[in-house]
Amino acid sequence: MSLLTTTLPVSFEFFPPKSPEGAEKLRVVRQALYARQPEFCSVTFGAGGSTQEGTFGTVSEILAEGMAAASHFSCIGATKVGVRQQLATLQAMGVKRLVALRGDLPSGYGAGGEFSYASDLVAFIRDETGDHFHIEVAAYPEIHPQARSAEADLKAYVTKVKAGANSAITQYFYSADAYARFVDDVYALGATVPVVPGIMPITNSSQLLRFSDACGAEIPRWIRLRLQGFGDDTASIKAFGLDVVTHLCDQLRSAGAPGLHFYSMNQSAPSLAVLDRLGL
Ligand code: FAD
Repeated sequence: MSLLTTTLPVSFEFFPPKSPEGAEKLRVVRQALYARQPEFCSVTFGAGGSTQEGTFGTVSEILAEGMAAASHFSCIGATKVGVRQQLATLQAMGVKRLVALRGDLPSGYGAGGEFSYASDLVAFIRDETGDHFHIEVAAYPEIHPQARSAEADLKAYVTKVKAGANSAITQYFYSADAYARFVDDVYALGATVPVVPGIMPITNSSQLLRFSDACGAEIPRWIRLRLQGFGDDTASIKAFGLDVVTHLCDQLRSAGAPGLHFYSMNQSAPSLAVLDRLGL
């Protein structure tokens, strides 16, 4: 167990289940995670509105279970009329927290839409709904994969925060230095909202390597090689992953991270194992 024993807010992220069985399994997972008294639970949103029904349905269930819920909300390909309607639906559902994103269009969707970047969405939400929503935005300590340069990406983040964000959640990473440097840099540029690190527990090496290539998250060489060396030995992968992620969380806590946001992948055990080790 970690030597640091201070309390730290935690939150958990889910994706909308694709089947009734998945929805039932997720209800059980949520109850296990609620025992850790999360600040909120969030539900991802397929860009282009592809999962809107599943996202809003899962958010409704979380609210009905008495837990604070954040709906992710992406704007790529969207119109202002459409976003206005969705915001009204979320307000009527009692949602008070959004993770406002540009998103990535799934293949098969054409370009277009009235929003270019997440900063446009944040400004629109503030114009339309005032202070109703606590708005989270995405942060990339290891630089967004499509950024023109590291400097341009930091400036884009600052613009997004100044458009009206209350806090940020990062893409996952395994370098505490990248996080600390990002926070220092954006604070120096005047974006001083809390930046909560996104934590991806390591349980499956091929899935992690595939995801990381797609989203630009860096898996340090030594972690990649160790994972590859375990082959199909899932017990060793999980034990190693738990050590690595617990150590990362400890470093982040020491660096003053204001909370931990777990990418649960709709499972409870990996996040709970890390929290147990951290004594949270
Ligand atoms: P933006 O902040 O708009 O940035 C996108 C790119 O544009 C960056 O490269 C940035 O540098 C650049 N940029 C921004 N503004 C400007 C400007 N004015 N001029 C030039 N360049 C600019 N995806 C989903 O589809 N659904 C989800 O639910 C989801 N949840 C996420 C949650 C978190 C916490 C994170 C970190 C990511 C999530 N994503 C999700 C992924 C996200 O949608 C993608 O990373 C997407 O490519 C960028 O979205 P963004 O909101 O960060 O975009």
